[in-house]
Amino acid sequence: MTNPHAGKPCIICVAITGSLPTKENNPAVPITISEQVESTHEAFEAGASIAHCHVRDDEGKPTSDPDRFARLKEGLEKHCPGLIVQLSTGGRSGAGQARGGMLPLRPDMASLTTGSNNFPTRVYENPPDLIDWLAAEMAKYDVKPELECFDLSHIIKAQEMQQKGQIKGTPYVQFVMGVKNAMPADRDVFDYYIRTVHRLFGPDAPWCAAGIGPQQIVLNDWAVASGGHARTGLEDNVRLDRDRLAPSNAALVRRVVEICNRYDRPVASWREARDILGLRQPAG
Ligand SMILES: [Zn+2]
Repeated sequence: MTNPHAGKPCIICVAITGSLPTKENNPAVPITISEQVESTHEAFEAGASIAHCHVRDDEGKPTSDPDRFARLKEGLEKHCPGLIVQLSTGGRSGAGQARGGMLPLRPDMASLTTGSNNFPTRVYENPPDLIDWLAAEMAKYDVKPELECFDLSHIIKAQEMQQKGQIKGTPYVQFVMGVKNAMPADRDVFDYYIRTVHRLFGPDAPWCAAGIGPQQIVLNDWAVASGGHARTGLEDNVRLDRDRLAPSNAALVRRVVEICNRYDRPVASWREARDILGLRQPAG
């Protein structure tokens, strides 16, 4: 055992669709609800225990429509029992409080970005009053936030929210790196992020990392080697490598499973993932 984190289960999150990728980018991107359920099922069988979900309208454009989210959640719960369903409140699919209109569905988790930053062609706006409102809705409906941290200040903000009681339990932070015009995949910053999470939330606080495009596999490797949890999926990256498109979300999950094997990290089952994150276990 060469890795100090050997033996520690690694949660794999699969971000199946996102707001941006199209069938033209990669025909494997699941767009309709039935495609999403099928793609997630295959990824779940490959080892993913969290599905991070966006929904699209009939034209394939991102939407925050709670009815679509309800149908997706229902399909996933039926076909992938135990899977942790995480719904996105990201800003590309709606504006203002519409971004949280699906929270009364009481998914296990929802994403919550705790600050603003630049995206490739626009500002990713997360004003303080909207962050507070989304956090309050999540608390009200017993939805655990995954804190999408595109910057150091977003991690610090998460601590402030925890101290004020806006976030219950240990915050689950995800470092997002490699978005153009936001924080790149910088190893020194990554290591400092980990130190900051441990300083603010304790040495056992779980954390996760996501890299965009070619940085996906880089962040997968860094996270697994450093004792964190890993996010993959077609939302963040549609390629296996420079020459090949990823044939499915499951193929990207299997790529993380291989990295886990390399570092002697067992892949967390959905039950283990729920324990690590302090989520309810399904009835029965
Ligand atoms: Zn997303």
